[in-house]
Amino acid sequence: MDLKSLIRDIPDFPKPGILFRDITTLLRDPEGLRYTIDFLAQKCIELEIQADCVVGMESRGFIFGAPLAYKLGSGFIPVRKRGKLPAAVHSIDYELEYGTDSLEVHQDALSPGSRVLIVDDLIATGGTASATAKLLQKIGCELVGFGFIIELRDLQGRKYLPDVPIISLVEY
Ligand code: IMP
Repeated sequence: MDLKSLIRDIPDFPKPGILFRDITTLLRDPEGLRYTIDFLAQKCIELEIQADCVVGMESRGFIFGAPLAYKLGSGFIPVRKRGKLPAAVHSIDYELEYGTDSLEVHQDALSPGSRVLIVDDLIATGGTASATAKLLQKIGCELVGFGFIIELRDLQGRKYLPDVPIISLVEY
């Protein structure tokens, strides 16, 4: 299936000069959605990624991470922006283009040695995925892979990630 044909390009969003890859058009397509999750799961199986849990980043990482976890027979853990999770959290600050932000995960969600697969819709500069990886490594988790629907190759985000399998289904 041609996933690119289901991803919509929105010029100048969220600000002038940015070409936003919009996956809502893929999500609303029943076959496209099923194919995407099945394809991601198949790649994980081919690469023999053995994860105790899938971690997805707010918010589009939830959309793909939870059904992937279901397919792989593992649990799903949300990583959220600062202040959204109700129980005690581990957190990490990371650099944005302007300023910093924080990502958080519940302290009781993961244990040292947990094998974790990190999932998000898209990797651009790699800032979000790399901060998530550092947060999980701080806890002592073992990263077993990354899964993205879209990879923006020119930005070379993958070079900031640890040396584990990195899956992306569509490249621009
Ligand atoms: P990075 O941290 O620069 O790799 O950016 C990736 C994060 O920003 C992911 O959480 C994406 O959801 C979001 N993002 C950046 N650009 C786009 C886009 O064009 N479409 C959808 N999400 C994007």
